Parts: sequence; structure tokens; C-alpha cells
Amino acid sequence: MSHQRPDALDVPAIRSAYPILERTFDGTQLVYLDNAATTQTPDPVVDAMSDYYRETNANVHRGIHHLSQEASIAYEEAHDRLAEFVGASGGRRELVFTKNTTESENMIAHAWGLRELGPGDEVVLTQMEHHASLVTWQQVAMRAGADVKYIRVDDDGRLDMDHAREVISDDTAMLSAVHVSNTLGTVNPVSELVDLAHEHDALAFIDGAQAVPTRPVDVEAIDADFYAFSGHKMAGPTGIGCLYGKEDLLADLDPYLYGGGMIRKVTYDESSWGEVPWKFEAGTPPIAEAVGLAAAADYLDDIGMERVRAHEERLAAAAYDALSGIDGLTIYGPEPGPDRAGLVSFSMENVHAHDLASICNDHAVAIRAGDHCTQPLHDTLGVSATARASFYVYNSVDEIDPLVEAVEDARALFA
Ligand code: PMP
Repeated sequence: MSHQRPDALDVPAIRSAYPILERTFDGTQLVYLDNAATTQTPDPVVDAMSDYYRETNANVHRGIHHLSQEASIAYEEAHDRLAEFVGASGGRRELVFTKNTTESENMIAHAWGLRELGPGDEVVLTQMEHHASLVTWQQVAMRAGADVKYIRVDDDGRLDMDHAREVISDDTAMLSAVHVSNTLGTVNPVSELVDLAHEHDALAFIDGAQAVPTRPVDVEAIDADFYAFSGHKMAGPTGIGCLYGKEDLLADLDPYLYGGGMIRKVTYDESSWGEVPWKFEAGTPPIAEAVGLAAAADYLDDIGMERVRAHEERLAAAAYDALSGIDGLTIYGPEPGPDRAGLVSFSMENVHAHDLASICNDHAVAIRAGDHCTQPLHDTLGVSATARASFYVYNSVDEIDPLVEAVEDARALFA
């Protein structure tokens, strides 16, 4: 069997679908390296949404008129497309549209957690959880009287799996783990974690916000009970995210939001709910966004998710090498390899991360600085903030040069 590396991406051809990347600031070409926060949106996705608004726009839930029928079909089919994108064979019966990953986490923590958790139960998280998962489960566990435990991160930025085997026990009711860390870039062994949870009859929720955009994800191969991701990090629009859940689990849960579009029968005294996913989608949903997100799934599948992953790994390795040559600079997370995704967080001696990002901005290089919604992880790393460069399909290896120049400039100015 041959193990050929997938083709490198044709970056100039890909970039032609992103007019925003042509922007210049004070005559300098934008270098957009803030993709872990939000990716840019290619023309096919923008076109799908603008065509929808020009030709089809109406409210859904199967109104009688033509436009509503067409909008309903497009909206419903978008669920099937996103389910297919992450390997969920139940289609729309396993795929709920939410606002984002954060709302998906909240939906399960409230709908499942407040019903099922109680004193003596434990929710197991990792030390590298995003606040979307960490704060949500922390607060819901507190309300339910349950405890929260954390799987340690080792000095290389990987999960300590021996500790995971200790912490996940018969008291564990839910494991919630991030698939790819938005701060360390670590790709966690989620199948192994899910298996551990299942061995103890616990459920497993995986935060795939950084994974689904950057690598092939198969929720059934992972055997996750719930899996969440956001549209705006995968070349799709803002305002829409996805919650995958196993069919029987979603069918068994009560809704998290109440209102129009999610009921079967309502009287002045009581109400009953429609089918999954509609019972979790109260009110007018993000219809144009669903159409745009389905177009983003088509767009990414046309490129090929294996090739996206290979491209990300190459860029991360190149950035890691280039940045690690700079004096006084510390990079966080594992060394480049198959368990590191396309983002690099770093700090520089005597230079605050915000100053690093600000000097980068002077060079028209867009990076992020702060705690990246992982404050407790930053506490364990012993820094209050880091700078983060993150890559996507339209970034080229050449764009690492202006990043390195800007960081060298910051060092010369402040260090
Ligand atoms: N989890 C991870 C790992 C993330 O990177 C993010 C976004 N930074 C989120 C959750 C939250 O995503 P959103 O803001 O789209 O809800």
C-alpha cells in the first residue's frame, strides 16, 4: 500500500474566491492569520446566501406558498448535508442547527445535565477546555450539585492519558473534551476518551469547533454521543452552528428553548414537542446561514478534507520552525506532527501579547492575543495571555515571513 502525501493546495486559485484577502492597509497587503477565531468566506458561500435572499427568502416550517416551501426544503436539506459532512448516518434526525458551538454546549448541559446530574455525579473535562465547555459544565454542575474534574495537560501540551484513566470513573456521568485545542493546537485522542467514558457508562460530548474545519471528522467512528461545531470557522457564515447527537439520545431529551416551530400540540395548560431536530430549533432559525453552511460543506469537500489537514500541518510546522528561531520566544503545545493542528500560540519575554498583536497589525498581519477563552489553561501555563497565529486553506507558507518580521520588530522595540 502506498502512503502518498495528498497534493499541496493550489493556494493562488483558492485565494481568488476571497476578495477580502486583497485588502491592503497603508499600502501593505493583509496577511490573515486569525482563522481559529473566524475563517473568511469564499464566493460560493456568499453567492449561495445572496441567491437565497434574491430568489427564495421566506420563513420556513412549510408555509403553503411556493417560497416558503422552497425555503423549507433548502433549510431541511442543509441538516442532511451537514450530518453527511461529519459522518452522521441519521441525517437531520441527528443534526440540530444552533447559533454556534457555545449554544450547542449549553443546550446539552441544560437539557441533559440539569435533568440527569445530581450529587455524587462527576463531569470530567480537560484542562484545555474552551470556556464554551468549561464555564457551561462548571455552572450546570454547580446548579445540579455535581462535581467537575479535570484531566491534566502535560508539559508538552498533550493530555495525560494515565490521569484520564484515573479521573474517568464509575462516578463520571459526562465527559466533555475538546477535539483540537484552540490554544495549544493539540489534537486529542477523542476516540480513546470516548471509549473510556463508555466503559464507565458515561456519555461523551466532543467540542469540534477547531476540528471539523481542519480535518476529516467522522462522529460515528469517534462514537461521540454529542459533537459540536461552528459555521464561521469552516468557511461558512456566522450565526449558525451544529449539534450532532445520537438519534435515541436527542429523541429522549426535552427542548432547551421553547416557542414557535418546535411544538406538536399546545393547549393553555400543556404542550408537546415535534420531532428532532425541530423540537430544538424554536423560533425563526438561521435559514440563509444554513444554506450558506451547506455550500461551505460542498466547498470544503471539493477541496478534500485530507488535503486541508495536510496543508494545515505543513503551515503549522513551517510557522513553528520559523518562530522557534526567535530569541526569547516560547511556543506552547506539542511539536509539529499529526497531533498538532494549524495554529501556533506563543509568548515573548518582556513583550505583552497585545503589543505583539499590535505590532503585527502595523505590518497588516492579523493575529489574536489574549487568553483565547482558556483562562484556567493560561494559569497552568503561567502566562496571562499569548499571541496566536492560525492558518486556513488560503494561507501560503510565504505569509509566515511577514509574521516573523513583525515579531522580530516587536522584539527589537520592546525586549
Ligand atoms: N470551542 C473551541 C475549541 C473554540 O475554538 C471556540 C471558538 N474560539 C469555541 C468552542 C466557541 O465557538 P463559538 O464562539 O463559535 O461558539
